[in-house]
Amino acid sequence: MTTLEQPLVKAVGAKAAKKLAALDLETAGDLLRHYPRRYAQRGELTDLDSLAEGEYVTVLAEVQKVQGRKISKRPGNLLEVTVTDGRGLLTLTFFGKGAYVPERELPPGTHGLFAGKVTFFGSGRNAKRQLVHPEYKPLAGGDLAGAAREFAEELIPVYPAAKGVTSWQIADCVRILLDTAELGDDALPEHVRRRHRLIGLADAYRGIHRPRDMAEAGRARKRLKWDEAFVLQTALAQRRRAAAELAATPRPPAAEGLLAAFDERLPFELTEGQRAVGDEIAADLARTHPMHRLLQGDVGAGKTVVGLRAMLQVVDSGGQAALLAPTEVLAQQHHRSIVAMLGPLAQAGQLGGVEHATRVALLTGSQGAKARREALLDAASGAAGIVVGTHALLQEHVQFADLGLVVIDEQHRFGVEQRDALREKATGGRPHVLVMTATPIPRTVAMTVYGDLDTSALTQLPAGRSPIATHVVPSANRAYWNRAWERIREEAAQGRQAYVVCPRIGDEEVPAPEDVPEEDGEDARRPPLAVLDVAPKLSEGPLHGLRLDVLHGRMHPDEKDAVMRRFAAGELDVLVATTVIEVGVDVPNATVMVVMDADRFGVSQLHQLRGRVGRGRHAGLCLLVTDAVEESKARERLDAVASTLDGFALSRIDLEQRREGDVLGESQSGRRSSLRLLTLLRDEEIIKEARAEATTLVEDDPELRGHPALVAELAALVDEERAEYLEKT
Ligand code: ADP
Ligand code: MG
Repeated sequence: MTTLEQPLVKAVGAKAAKKLAALDLETAGDLLRHYPRRYAQRGELTDLDSLAEGEYVTVLAEVQKVQGRKISKRPGNLLEVTVTDGRGLLTLTFFGKGAYVPERELPPGTHGLFAGKVTFFGSGRNAKRQLVHPEYKPLAGGDLAGAAREFAEELIPVYPAAKGVTSWQIADCVRILLDTAELGDDALPEHVRRRHRLIGLADAYRGIHRPRDMAEAGRARKRLKWDEAFVLQTALAQRRRAAAELAATPRPPAAEGLLAAFDERLPFELTEGQRAVGDEIAADLARTHPMHRLLQGDVGAGKTVVGLRAMLQVVDSGGQAALLAPTEVLAQQHHRSIVAMLGPLAQAGQLGGVEHATRVALLTGSQGAKARREALLDAASGAAGIVVGTHALLQEHVQFADLGLVVIDEQHRFGVEQRDALREKATGGRPHVLVMTATPIPRTVAMTVYGDLDTSALTQLPAGRSPIATHVVPSANRAYWNRAWERIREEAAQGRQAYVVCPRIGDEEVPAPEDVPEEDGEDARRPPLAVLDVAPKLSEGPLHGLRLDVLHGRMHPDEKDAVMRRFAAGELDVLVATTVIEVGVDVPNATVMVVMDADRFGVSQLHQLRGRVGRGRHAGLCLLVTDAVEESKARERLDAVASTLDGFALSRIDLEQRREGDVLGESQSGRRSSLRLLTLLRDEEIIKEARAEATTLVEDDPELRGHPALVAELAALVDEERAEYLEKT
C-alpha cells in the first residue's frame, strides 16, 4: 500500500517519477490531486484548429494520410502523418530511423492519441500546425490489452501535460495509484458529507480520474471542490476565533481631543456611509479584543478620512497608529495630505501647534539617513501619534512606544504574513487592524481571501462628485486622437490638469525589430508605448507649451516625490506616468486621463486608474486609446470599462477574464495550488455552505481534536501558503 505522503518513486518507479517531477508532482497525493483538465469522449475528436503555438497538447484524432519521402540533404527518411478531426489538419513529423515504426503503427483510419508541442511551419495562410516527433498511442491495434481496456472506458482523461510526459503516461501512473493508494481517514467530517450528499473520498478520486460517465465525474468534482472550500474555510474560522481570543488595549473615543477638533476642521460633511462605518470602527476600537476589519469602498469613496478618524481616536486615548501604504508615492501622498488635513493639529512641539496636537512621521525605504532617524525616534518615543510608511515600517528595528492601530491601505498588495509582522510590533496586546481595499471584490472572493476579517463597505460616493465619462478611442482614428490632445489643452487653459498613462517606462531592453516574429499572432505586437517616448513627443507636438513631466517606478523616490508635489500644487499641467499613479493618488484638480494602449491593462487596473480623475468639483474624462479592433476580446474589456463606473461589476468581469486567461495561457503545467477545482465566482454556493459548516465545527471543537485528518490537511495548507508567500517576495 502507498500512503499519500510517500514519494512517487515508491509508487510508480523511478523513471515515471522523474517525468512527473517535471509537473511538480512529488508525492502520491500530488499525483492523485493532479486532475484531468477535461475528458475526451470516444469518437469525439479534438478541435485541431484551436491548438495554440507552443502548447504541449494531447489530441485525439484520426490518421488521414501517411507519406514517407527521402530528403536529399539529410540521411534517412522523413515521415509525415496527417491526422484530422474531420475538419482541421495536424501534421505529425518523424525523421530518420524514428520514422519506420509509426509508419507501421499508424495506417490511415487509425484513431489515436498524439502528444507533443505545437509548432507552425510555412507562413501566412498556408501555415500548418505540426507536432515534431510526437508521442502517440493508437487506440486500436498495437497494445491490444490496453486498447481493449481503453474501449471499455467511455471517457479518456486528458491531463495537463508537459514536455516529456504525455497525458496517457500520467493516466497510467494514476491508475496504479488508484489501485494501491491508502487514502487514510477522510478529512471531511461524516456529518458534513451526509448533509450535503457528498460521495466518499476513494470514490471521488476514482470518479474524477476514471469516470464511467460525466455524471460520475460531476459528483467527484463536487466532492473534491468541497474539500478545498472546507479546509480553507476551517483555516479561516480558526484564525477568526484565535483573533477573537487575543487581548487588545481598548481605545475608546474621547469627548474632546484630536478627533473632535479634526471633525470641526473638516471642509466637508461626512457621508452617511462614512459616519456609519466610523461608528462601527469606533465601537470596535473600544473593545478589549483586537479589531480586524476590512473596509471596502469603490475608488474615490473617501476611505482615507475614515481611516484617519480611527487613527485620531487611538491617538486621543494615548496610543499610536501606523498607516501602511503599498507604494512610496502613496505613502508620501498620505503623509502630505494627512499633515495638510490636520493643519495645526499635526504640529505638536512646533510654533502654531495647538492643544491635543500630535506629530505625523513618514518612514520609507529610501529616505535620507537624517529624516529616517528622526522618524524612527518619533515612532519609538511616541512623539508621533501617526506614522505613515511603506514596507519599511515592517522592519525589525522600527519600534513604537504604544502601537494601538494599524491601518493598511490598498490591502491587495499585502500578504497575511505582512499584516502579522506589523501586529507583532504592539507591546501589551495586539493592535487593532483596519484594512482598506480599493479594488472592490466579489463577496465570495472576500469570504475566501479576507475570510478572517469582518467587513464594512462604503457604498456611496461623496455628494457633489462629478461623473466620469469614459470613451474608447481607436488609435486608427486620427481625428478622435487629436481631439484627445485638444481636450487636454482646453482643460489646461481652464487651470485643470491631466494624466497620460503608458504601459511601459521605456528605458528597458526591447527586442530588436528583426527578433520579433512575423506571424500575426500575439508575438508580432509592437512593444507597448512608453512614458519616455511619449512624453517628449507630446511636449514637442500636440501638447507643446504645456508644463509636462514624467513619473515612473524607476525614478529616485525623492524625484518621484518632487514631481508629485509639483503636480499636486498645480505647477504641472500634464503628468505622463506609468501605473505608479494607479492606486490612491489624489489630485482633485486633475480632470482628464488618457490611457495609451489601454488594452494592455486589466479591467480593475483601468478602473483604478480612471479613479484618479473626477475627484473634485469638475467632471472627469477618461479616454482609453487602443488599436484593438472592434469585437476583439481586448476591445470588449475596454467597452465594459467604458460602460460602467461600478467597480464591483468590473471586478467580476476582471476575475472571469483572468480565469479564462489562465486557462488559455497556462502551458498545461498544472501549477500547484490549494485551489485546483474551486472557482471563486462559480462555486459561490459551495463556499457559502462550507463556510457555515466550518464555522460551526470550529465553535464546537476549536482544537479539532475529533478531526485529526482535517488537522493534517490544515497543516499542509499553511505550508503551501507560506511557500506561495515566499515565492512572491
Ligand atoms: P479612496 O476611497 O479612493 O481612498 P479618498 O479617501 O482618497 O478615496 O477620497 C477621495 C477624495 O474625496 C479626497 O479628496 C477626499 O478629501 C474627498 N472626500 C472624502 N470624503 C468626502 C466627503 N464626505 N465629502 C466630500 N469629499 C470627500
Ligand atoms: Mg485610497
